[in-house]
Order: sequence, then C-alpha cells, then structure tokens
Amino acid sequence: MHDVRIQLNPHPTDPLERAAILERPVFGESFGDHMVTMSWRDGSWGPLELVPFGPLALSPATLALHYGQSVFEALKAYRAPDGTTSLFRPSTNADRFATSARRLAMPTLPEGVFELACALAAGADRDWIPTAHGAALYVRPFMFASEAHLSVRPAREYRFVVISSPVASYFGDHLPAISVAVETADVRATPGGTGAVKFAGNYAAGFAAHGRAGAAGQDQVLWLDATERRWVEELNAMNVVFVWHHDGRTVVSTPPLTGTILEGVTRSSLLELAADPDPDPAGPGIDEVVERPTSIDQVRAALADGSLREVFACGTAAVIAPIGTLVDGGVVRPVGDGRPGPITTALRRRLLDVQHGTGPDPHGWMRPVERILIDAGVDPGALER
Ligand SMILES: *Cc1c(COP(=O)(O)O)cnc(C)c1O
Repeated sequence: MHDVRIQLNPHPTDPLERAAILERPVFGESFGDHMVTMSWRDGSWGPLELVPFGPLALSPATLALHYGQSVFEALKAYRAPDGTTSLFRPSTNADRFATSARRLAMPTLPEGVFELACALAAGADRDWIPTAHGAALYVRPFMFASEAHLSVRPAREYRFVVISSPVASYFGDHLPAISVAVETADVRATPGGTGAVKFAGNYAAGFAAHGRAGAAGQDQVLWLDATERRWVEELNAMNVVFVWHHDGRTVVSTPPLTGTILEGVTRSSLLELAADPDPDPAGPGIDEVVERPTSIDQVRAALADGSLREVFACGTAAVIAPIGTLVDGGVVRPVGDGRPGPITTALRRRLLDVQHGTGPDPHGWMRPVERILIDAGVDPGALER
C-alpha cells in the first residue's frame, strides 16, 4: 500500500464565497482548497501527499519548461442524488496517463495511485462539486520533469500533481451549436508523433490555427491528417462524431484510432452507449455504430445532399458539443438546420444521466470515491474536518 499523508487546508475558502463561485463556475478559473502531490527521484516515488492548494516552488532550470516533458489527464467527479461522490472511469484515465508517460520517457505511477490521488482530491473538495445537470468537479492530474538542469535528456526527477476546478456545463446551460473551421495549413499530429497521447506540447502546436479560426469567428479547429490533408481527425481537445442517414438507416461513425488521434474516454463511452439499446423506447434509433475513416470530401458532399445529419465534438470538459457550422476554405456549410440534432441530444442526455447517477449505469463506469479510498487502505474519515 502506498504511503499517504493528509494535511487538510486550515484556511479553506469561505462557504459563502464558495457558494457564489459554484452558482456560476467559469471553466478553469477557480480551484478546490487542496491538491495532491508526489515526487519521483532515483527510480522511486515518494509519499502521496494531500496538501492545501498553493503555488509550486520551481527552479528556472526546471527541465519541463525547456524540453517539454509534461503530460496530463482530465476527468470529472460528480455527486449523485443520494450524496455519493464518484469519479467517471478513472482507471481508463490512469491507463492513458501511463501510455502518455511512456511515450515521453517519463516514469509511470505505482498501480492504483492515479485513482487514489484523484479520489483524495475529489473527496477532500467534495463541497466544491456543483450539482446542476452538466456541472461537475473537473479533476486535472498532471506530471512534469521537475529536475533543475539544462541537459537535453529525460529528467531524473518528476512531480505528479492533481488539482481540481468546479465547472458548469462547458457551453452554458442550454446547448448551443459551435462553429468549426477546417484547418488545411497546420497539422496537429503526425504518424509516429505524439498525437495519441495527452502531451502538453500538442496543445501549444494547435494554438496558432485556433487563433486564426477565432479571429474569423469560429469556435474550434477541425484537424485533417498530416499526410494527405484529406482525412478528418479531431478537434483541439475533442473527438468528432458523425451521424449519417442512408437508405432509411441511421449510422453513427467516428474516425478510427490510427495513432494520430487521442483516444477520448468520452468517445469510447459514447460508442458503447450508442451501440446499447436506448433505455428510452421513444428515443431516436441508431442502426449502426462504426469506426471508419471519413474524408473531408465525403463530409462536403454529404452535407450538400443532406445525408450527413448531425456532427458533434466530445470530450470530458464539454461532454458533447454539437457542431452547427463547418467553415471550409471560406465556404460556410451548415450542418442540418444548424441546431443540435436528436441523436446528439439523446446521447448527451444518456451519458449525463450515467454521470449524475440519474439513469442506469449498465457498464459500471462510476467509481465511488469512498470505495477507492477504502480499497487503498485510506480511512475516508481522514478527509472530514
Ligand atoms: C483529451 C482529449 C480528447 C478527449 O478525451 P476525453 O478523455 O474524452 O476527455 C480528445 N482529443 C484530444 C486531442 C484531447 O486532448
């Protein structure tokens, strides 16, 4: 069992101030009262420490700042109507974190410690979980090269940290459709590169294109493949899903994982839910769910002839963001009538019902924080004031 040390914040945020923040949380702007940290040196991890949220002291020679060894994760904690605090599929994020670390020549965490660290952060700051539908406590684990040195080589010291931030439904209370610009100059990921892992540098590399799209009035960038600039890949931090209508059949598709696309937990969860029978017998039917390559030419043609009915983006932060317009080489192409379609809306509701504990959880995706703590030998009472 890993050595766990718990130091509760003696000066937590005033409850009235916290309540005011939770009424209108802005993504990534406010943070819980605690963080979890753990350091790696000479081949082994030190204790896992829950401490008050605060600045990290770093040398200007911190290797991550120079050569970019930095990876992260994102998952959410929800409070069910019965008061249980749970994390959504934390082991899936733990596995992806390990894959990211290996790709960047960084150490991996001991078995179960990722889930435990997230449970400590969410459990200590459970009062920071907003309860409105679509709102949650966003949990952000990350790891970076903390050694002070300037040699171009993998670091000999690393820091693992978990912080949390209350979030409302990412795009507000109702579900507005976003507009997306097809990027044909820059690329996000190349074969053999780092596109399939959550590596900090991937995001910086996309910001210039994102800025151009923003200046032209679009919300996001849709990336094409690096080799042919023809195959649709994903957005900056969200996967893309299409809903087609052919010969009276409704087909849900998303591009396959070819090594340049990040395997989103939301993406895989939605693929499973879409293939399950709809618990609502009146829900819109889905005849087939498939991972298949989609070219931008196919998208253009199918938007023109009406067979591409719905397009949406999906990821932990937004859950599902309907795409209402595609701007492609200066041509504005509406998707359907430009508003969220029935499959987009139904899948979003089904996933949110699992996450908020307001619907069935047929795959056992919700992991109660208390269970994770007990299984790791940590008394949940240690998080009580
Ligand atoms: C995080 C991320 C996603 C979505 O992954 P989730 O696990 O669903 O949050 C998709 N694409 C990229 C590039 C990402 O970084």
